[in-house]
Amino acid sequence: MRTLSGLGVSAGVGQAHALLVSPAPGLPTSDPSQGTEADMARIESALNKVADRLDERSMHADPSALAVLQATAMMARDPGLLTSIKSHLTDGHGPAHALWAAFDDFCAQLGAAGGYLAERVTDLRNVRDRAVAVMQGLPEPGVPSFDSPVILVAEDLAPADTATLNPDLVRGLITAAGGPTSHTAILASQIGIPAVVRCSEAREIEDGTPLALDGVTGTVLVEPDEAAVAELTSRANRRAEVLASAPEGDATLSDGERVLVLANIGSPSDAPTAKKKGAEGVGLFRTEFLFLDRQDAPTVNEQTEAYATVLKTFDEGAKVVFRTLDAGADKPLAFADLGPEENPALGRRGLRLSQVRTDLIDAQLEALAKAAEQTGRDPYVMAPMVATRAEAEWFSSRAHAAGIKTVGIMVEVPSTALRSAQVLETVDFASIGTNDLTQYAMAADRLQGELAELLTPWQPAVIQLVKATCDGAGERLIGVCGEAAGDPLLALVLVGVGVRSLSMAAGKITAVKATLSRHSLDQCRQIAEAALAASSPEEARKAALELADPSVEVLVS
Ligand code: PEP
Ligand code: MG
Repeated sequence: MRTLSGLGVSAGVGQAHALLVSPAPGLPTSDPSQGTEADMARIESALNKVADRLDERSMHADPSALAVLQATAMMARDPGLLTSIKSHLTDGHGPAHALWAAFDDFCAQLGAAGGYLAERVTDLRNVRDRAVAVMQGLPEPGVPSFDSPVILVAEDLAPADTATLNPDLVRGLITAAGGPTSHTAILASQIGIPAVVRCSEAREIEDGTPLALDGVTGTVLVEPDEAAVAELTSRANRRAEVLASAPEGDATLSDGERVLVLANIGSPSDAPTAKKKGAEGVGLFRTEFLFLDRQDAPTVNEQTEAYATVLKTFDEGAKVVFRTLDAGADKPLAFADLGPEENPALGRRGLRLSQVRTDLIDAQLEALAKAAEQTGRDPYVMAPMVATRAEAEWFSSRAHAAGIKTVGIMVEVPSTALRSAQVLETVDFASIGTNDLTQYAMAADRLQGELAELLTPWQPAVIQLVKATCDGAGERLIGVCGEAAGDPLLALVLVGVGVRSLSMAAGKITAVKATLSRHSLDQCRQIAEAALAASSPEEARKAALELADPSVEVLVS
């Protein structure tokens, strides 16, 4: 047995055989033709194999995934495609290049058609990558088909791959790359699949190897013996006991102080799950997740429907926060692309992009106001990446003009945290995005796994910025919706510096509620003081753990 370690980013223990997710191999460097007829036979056989595998996979899929997989299989069998490939072969292309060129033609046609058809480009590219891999005798890229429990092992996973995974069959995710706040990690914990990222030794794991993982500690056991799995499981059981003690209703500290515990969601369908897992509302709806694969801007009506669905899911008076489009940097949107930039994370992203594409923000605000009218609810609406008072004012007057009553901003830029008294003057609430706040405070790209040590929100500088935000906020409700809020121990620190609303992946709610209920506000303040006095993230965490209730240990290490 070998023990590997990575970063645990989504709680839970999983045990199953490894299923390797191969990256798309791309075009071969050598692609000789064996004559049109032989080439066509090879191409047709590769496409049929891809189609057959998709069909086979569809037989085990749920109804919505079934339709998608069958439609994709039909693309691979499209006779028009073969005609086009043949003409590229006769133009002198090698077989893989001819197939690639024909797909490119189809993609261009669909892209130009716009709307629903344009969205099929992604599926076509997926068929192309699979077929080119099969022609080279390589495993198909992406998540291969499977019908028994697996642990997926990949270099990294695209958010689109993660979003469609079935937690009943996928018992865990292990990636060699990726960071703790990558959107793939966030999606995994939203779906409830244990996940470990930044486990570089995962590159050596072979297909079919028995594995076990703990998505809290980041431990991966390769060919585990029974005793090791038993220990992993026993800790998981002790954890389960603590979790079972979490209060069912609203979250309070042991002295009765209220703290809102909310969920981060990426689509209306996440809302009922979040509610079931104990969320009182939504602290962050990442609205851009709705449109990641769209080629054209969503209409006001379709947005209204999505937003109204979320509002109706929660009780009247619940806090439901919509973040306006946070496009750019790690979340590029095809319809909101302002062109290449040297440093996208420092460029025109978030609100800066909305200030250029006022059509997009106005449509979104109109949709939110309509959803409010339709449901009789009062949505909280906030803008991402606000750096100055002028930007906050720009957003708040635009949102009010559109009919939004409760307007806020995200605190993700150190300048806003340091000047919160001034920047927050024209808004009603704020939510601290500790993922970006850490990235910008530590000048460390959040997508770069190697920088994980700098990127932890346990950095005393980050905790100090959270405190500065709360200190300057007056009576305004300050929340945290970055991943920090879902760390039970760090949640105590956040409450200790003045945060009263914590929003997290739904899978983390119970652990945070259980932990909050075992501590008083005084204890949280002492824990926060100790963390702030520390000179490194490790020291801060250790100091907090020493002062916290002993039950917290099993939840966080
Ligand atoms: C954050 O930056 O902490 C945040 C919540 O926003 P996102 O992760 O979507 O950038
Ligand atoms: Mg952010």
